[in-house]
Amino acid sequence: MPEYIRSGSVEEAVGLIAEHGSSLWIMGGGTIVMQVLESGADYWQYIMGLDGLALDGIERANGSWRLGATATATQIRAQPDLPALAAAARMVGGPALQNAATVGGNIYARSPQGDLAVVLLALDARLHLATADGEQAPSLGEFYDDWEAAGRTPPGLLTAIEFAEPAGEVVFMKCGRRRFNSASVISVAVNVAQKDGKVTEARIALCGAGPHAQRCAAAEEAILGGKLDDAAIARAAAAAAAACAPVTDTVASEWYRRRMVGVYLRRALAQLA
Ligand SMILES: Cc1cc2nc3c(=O)[nH]c(=O)nc-3n(C[C@H](O)[C@H](O)[C@H](O)COP(=O)(O)OP(=O)(O)OC[C@H]3O[C@@H](n4cnc5c(N)ncnc54)[C@H](O)[C@@H]3O)c2cc1C
Repeated sequence: MPEYIRSGSVEEAVGLIAEHGSSLWIMGGGTIVMQVLESGADYWQYIMGLDGLALDGIERANGSWRLGATATATQIRAQPDLPALAAAARMVGGPALQNAATVGGNIYARSPQGDLAVVLLALDARLHLATADGEQAPSLGEFYDDWEAAGRTPPGLLTAIEFAEPAGEVVFMKCGRRRFNSASVISVAVNVAQKDGKVTEARIALCGAGPHAQRCAAAEEAILGGKLDDAAIARAAAAAAAACAPVTDTVASEWYRRRMVGVYLRRALAQLA
């Protein structure tokens, strides 16, 4: 079993990551890390816990939100002013898991997990990463591109996630095998602003439809600039189903996931029409 270590500050944690490289694994709430360790994986010499770093705050100031990386799903589901993110937090496993599961860990979860990440993409969230070369602040979309390109090597310690108050309405919907406490088939998040009957901003994100949660440009283009009517919604749903790249696993087939992307995106957009 790896040695469990803690650090007293973000600077010290970054130093430990630099010192131990790939032999150290960062642990947030541990709901994924512990499963992997219990399965017998022994690639790591050290597991670094983040308790003690006080990274679990949730703040709202000057038109934006800042979630500490170790804020839990339980904390997030208690935020009435973040209804879509709170709805997603309620869908992360069951209540016991939500007490441990962190928003930081959710960003690194393998699709189809990532119920919080998909909403954060629709909110155009920015990450704060503490690295040996200083702080980085990529958008979540840029982060995923770089992370894939780097073979999923974590770039450093995720300390916080920030996003502006959404200009539009945000809706999250999840298709699971059961209504609650169920692994995702897929989930969708939409953030749509409308003015004078026309869509002025559209951010559409999908989870379970690729290697991690991701925006769907084809679906966004299908509704931007026009009226959010049945025809536009049908075009967006068809575009998302065509563009996505889901996998088959024990929860659902690629075929079913692709169809549910279309169905759930249509339902989510219909709430805003
Ligand atoms: C039974 C069960 C059901 C689940 N159901 C769902 C579900 O319905 N929806 C869903 O989205 N997820 C689900 N999950 C997955 C998981 O619980 C959540 O995604 C959770 O948010 C992960 O957070 P964590 O803090 O526990 O991650 P951890 O296990 O602590 O870490 C996960 C990964 O993130 C990295 N990491 C964590 N924090 C940081 C940080 N601050 N900086 C850098 N790297 C970091 C770790 O190194 C690790 O690679 C489920 C898991 C289980 C076991």
